[in-house]
Amino acid sequence: MAEHAPAESPLSASILVVGGGMSGMTAAIEASEVGHEVILLEKGPSLGGAVARMNQYFPKLCPPFCGVEINYKRLRTNKNVRVMTLAEVDSISGSPGNYQVQIKVNPRFVNEKCTACGECAKVCELERDNDHNWGMDKTKAVYLPHKMAYPMRYVVDPAFAGDQKMKVCAEACEYGAIELDQKPRTVSAKVGSIVWATGWVPYDATKMENLGFGRIPNVITNVMMERVASEDGPTGGKILRPSDKTEIKSIAFVQCAGSRDDNHLPYCSAVCCMASMKQATYVREQYPEAEIHVFYIDIRSPGRLEDFYMKMQKDEKMYFRRGKVAKITEENNGDVTLEAEDTLTGKMQKATVNLAVLATGMVPATAAVKPPISVETDDYGFLLQKDGAPVIGAGTTVRPLEVSATVQDGTGAALKGIIAAGGGH
Ligand SMILES: Cc1cc2nc3c(=O)[nH]c(=O)nc-3n(C[C@H](O)[C@H](O)[C@H](O)COP(=O)(O)OP(=O)(O)OC[C@H]3O[C@@H](n4cnc5c(N)ncnc54)[C@H](O)[C@@H]3O)c2cc1C
Repeated sequence: MAEHAPAESPLSASILVVGGGMSGMTAAIEASEVGHEVILLEKGPSLGGAVARMNQYFPKLCPPFCGVEINYKRLRTNKNVRVMTLAEVDSISGSPGNYQVQIKVNPRFVNEKCTACGECAKVCELERDNDHNWGMDKTKAVYLPHKMAYPMRYVVDPAFAGDQKMKVCAEACEYGAIELDQKPRTVSAKVGSIVWATGWVPYDATKMENLGFGRIPNVITNVMMERVASEDGPTGGKILRPSDKTEIKSIAFVQCAGSRDDNHLPYCSAVCCMASMKQATYVREQYPEAEIHVFYIDIRSPGRLEDFYMKMQKDEKMYFRRGKVAKITEENNGDVTLEAEDTLTGKMQKATVNLAVLATGMVPATAAVKPPISVETDDYGFLLQKDGAPVIGAGTTVRPLEVSATVQDGTGAALKGIIAAGGGH
């Protein structure tokens, strides 16, 4: 089925999957490849989720293309999945085996004739913050979501669709692909089961005033670091400190920034230690002599990931420093000083570095936006898995996970979805 085919109400499918990250794509693909019809909804303009924003992913340090592109390929040739981007669930009624769902589809303002040639963006005078790069740079107001976008199609930022200057972009398209008069529409669907895979968002680092994020330019977060190191990131992949775009000689990773902390996120997000060690490899590749400090409470590298940790410990300029960072202050030259308390001895220690990276944790998207039907969550917003629950949680909607566990979880959710839809007998 062509992706983003015009959806005529009412649609019908065995399974509705909400969220187009690794867990949602996996659930949709696995269920469809054994013959079930699936609708896959993504609220953004492209599938891929957080993984599409990584530079590389552990444990193999492969680029996100590896996993994401395989899923895209399986989707492209799959007649059983209808992919709908810029789409969200408005309402759900009914019970397992028989749900009625209202889906809101927001306008892309670019139709399927788009070839992603980019001529529209070349003439576009309007700019917007690049959300893919966490606002660290700009894109044109008509833009490709990212280089691995699925569908590979431009989108117009809705804030600019009515701007007179956008008409120039529409006129530059020789395929007639830009339609600035598109309106939101509502599509009804009848489905047998619902998989909820809306993933995670980073914990808001501005809530930790002591760590200076948002106030001190050379304090960034781990998700920003992924983009800084990416070739399509704000500095073309060169790791530079934001305040003056200079090369770095020293960097500090602040583990558990807000995590395992009753004032913020009391739980461990399971991936941050590995994410920082992975990001240390980005630094080492570009700066063989840089000092890398990792301030930690304890390093969590379960199972085979311990090998990665052991390898990093052999780096002579990588300093694992036991201590919870209590405060970050800015020096006159833009450097940052970290003060940390050793959680065993109570001793204070300090380090001054060019750049600090806060390893912030994962917050489930369901903490802010729950499925529009009665569901149970834990205190932090993760979906609770209960027999007969109206939606089946998958991936980081249920708990913090790394990609491989997310994929396994998506496969499990596909099976549960098939059974709940009545197709598993
Ligand atoms: C700094 C950092 C680095 C990491 N690095 C690695 C790594 O190297 N290796 C690794 O294995 N793991 C890594 N992870 C973990 C990895 O990001 C997750 O395992 C993975 O993103 C989980 O996929 P998901 O599908 O559950 O969620 P997501 O990737 O968050 O995907 C959810 C999707 O749902 C969409 N969505 C949200 N709300 C709605 C809605 N209401 N309606 C429709 N769609 C919606 C979102 O737009 C998104 O596309 C890292 C995590 C962090 C914090």
